[in-house]
Amino acid sequence: MVLKTFVMATHNKHKITELQRILEPLGIQVTTAELPEVEETGTTFEENAQLKARSACRATGLPSVADDSGISVDALGGAPGVYSARYAGPDATDADRNQKLLCELQDTPDEKRTARFVSAICCAFPDGSEITVTGVCEGRVARSPRGEDGFGYDPIFLVGKKTYAELSPSEKDAVSHRGKALRQLAERLREHGYE
Ligand code: IMP
Repeated sequence: MVLKTFVMATHNKHKITELQRILEPLGIQVTTAELPEVEETGTTFEENAQLKARSACRATGLPSVADDSGISVDALGGAPGVYSARYAGPDATDADRNQKLLCELQDTPDEKRTARFVSAICCAFPDGSEITVTGVCEGRVARSPRGEDGFGYDPIFLVGKKTYAELSPSEKDAVSHRGKALRQLAERLREHGYE
């Protein structure tokens, strides 16, 4: 198997771990690089993933992969959506964002707490070709944080009876928005000659 290197356009070590887990069996090694800051000016997850992947590919001359993701809550009209990372201000922590979301939903009954996680992943190649895929995981916002694993909104996102943070890494990959997007990406990469 020929080992190929893809630059991952993120500093989020949790995303890097999840991408590496799924791309490694395809002979793809994910690496990071010093990259120019990219303003996420897109109005969709797909646009923001494309902006980040294209910029990384231009800067490094290597195939580059970027994930843009977030949680959309029905009772909040789809918010925070593409603003998930900025939801509680620029210096907020994951715990701050989770608390803010729980506060906004404190009067929302269980049956109206439906939400979905979305991951758009773009792979940009030096020859100008691109692959963009999207994965969605339907769930609900919990009443309080639960579980020790994961990152971001994982402790408050329920899939069935468990939060993402209560799932093992392989259980999360099997159902998650990113796992679904990455499996589509793997399929498309095979068509591009990656085995
Ligand atoms: P961005 O894609 O880097 O703009 O980040 C989107 C926001 O959603 C960040 O606050 C992440 O922590 C959060 N997020 C993205 N993916 C996940 C996930 O798999 N679990 C929990 N939170 C996530």
